[in-house]
Amino acid sequence: MTRVVLSIGSNVGDRLARLQSVVDALGDAVRAVSPIYETEAWGGVEQGAFLNAVLVADDPNLDCFAWLRRGQELEQAADRVRGQRWGPRTLDVDIITCHDGDTEIRSATAELTLPHPYAHLRAFVLTPWLAADPEATLTVADTMRPVSLWLEELDPAERASVRLTGLTLHTERAAG
Ligand code: AMP
Repeated sequence: MTRVVLSIGSNVGDRLARLQSVVDALGDAVRAVSPIYETEAWGGVEQGAFLNAVLVADDPNLDCFAWLRRGQELEQAADRVRGQRWGPRTLDVDIITCHDGDTEIRSATAELTLPHPYAHLRAFVLTPWLAADPEATLTVADTMRPVSLWLEELDPAERASVRLTGLTLHTERAAG
């Protein structure tokens, strides 16, 4: 069984529909879904705020690279236009962690870096992740800690920049 934590974000067009498209496409593989948060964009490029969420998913047929490709397919399906680094994007799908059974997969290539190298620095990843999985842990430089602790260490302004919305993602299970 391969279990991934996915961070999804959108700041162009119908942002909620973009995030929902990921949940719909993954269907039964989705195990947990966070609430939706809104985050001001950072990186120095003028652009609209992001909607962000985190999903936990598993699929026995996908390894971590297959999950990366799956995420890229979903980005393309959402008509993502690759442009400026840190710029606006219809849909961004990042693999935050990937486990094969009880084993956390580590990868250090440009194509796939696991755990995601910036996850512990981004409140828009940690806050929804904690909501989706309060027991979650994240390993950074061989130090494994609860996600709640990584979040506590962030600048309060960074944490405050991630606001809970009233928007929700609907899973097939919840609907059916
Ligand atoms: P971005 O513009 O942030 O979507 O980055 C996309 C690029 O990052 C692609 O070339 C991916 O192969 C690469 N990448 C490396 N590690 C990861 C990861 N953990 N999740 C998603 N993309 C990754």
